[in-house]
Amino acid sequence: MTDPHRPYRPPLHLWLVAALAIAVGGFSFFGEVTRQNDGTDVRVDPTLPADLQADLLAAARTAYGLMQTPQFERALRAAAGQEPVYIARDRPRGDVDEVLARLRGEGRYLPLRLVLMSDSQVRFAQHYAAGGGIGYFTQAGEIHIPPAVAAQWRAGDLVERSCAINTLTHEITHTVSISPLVFTPAFTDTNAARPAIAGRTPGESPIASYLIGSAAQCAWLAREGRIAETELAACVEVFGTAGFNDRCTAFSAGESVRERPGLPPPMRRL
Ligand SMILES: [Zn+2]
Repeated sequence: MTDPHRPYRPPLHLWLVAALAIAVGGFSFFGEVTRQNDGTDVRVDPTLPADLQADLLAAARTAYGLMQTPQFERALRAAAGQEPVYIARDRPRGDVDEVLARLRGEGRYLPLRLVLMSDSQVRFAQHYAAGGGIGYFTQAGEIHIPPAVAAQWRAGDLVERSCAINTLTHEITHTVSISPLVFTPAFTDTNAARPAIAGRTPGESPIASYLIGSAAQCAWLAREGRIAETELAACVEVFGTAGFNDRCTAFSAGESVRERPGLPPPMRRL
């Protein structure tokens, strides 16, 4: 018979089992929510045709890889110079070193799923939705790209193809978190609800997310031999550091990728 005045004490081995279960569960939970994506954990909407899935996957992996290259770093530095860079809401006046730190160690890339938008979604969406919000719960990013971007990547002209790299790299920056647990975006710009950046004079400095997109695009063009390393800054100037523009097909006759009269206008300054 148990003594009613003596509280029940579980045997020592039960405590050990419980402690072990908590430790294993805790470590795997921590591991799950802090998982780093180096570009290998990218999935493409499985309902798309297999060849399109393969192409989109190749484009995304190229985008991730480019951000680690010396050409990319040179393009960033050449384009931004000593100017301050708008990085995110928490860092409106940063610099290229901080941008690189967030991309190469400090930031955490969320595992990613690529989805192709339907034509009606393209008409109504102001921006391509990218990761972020859902990361609060699932720690997974999602990028929605319009069919036009997939078509660019599949084009024959290298400059047109490079525009897909620009868009993808830009959107990938929105799936980088600088906090290990809760998703805290490393790079912010605008969205449909907030079309302007508060506390900023439009055009006052490069916006990191767009600067990164154009730098990756131009680094890819240098790697493919379409432009010289000395043309990186001129190339980033063409594609801009404050928004996407319509210049992707303006170099299909092999023109130098630099400003010239008659180019489609740069985007509205942010
Ligand atoms: Zn953006």
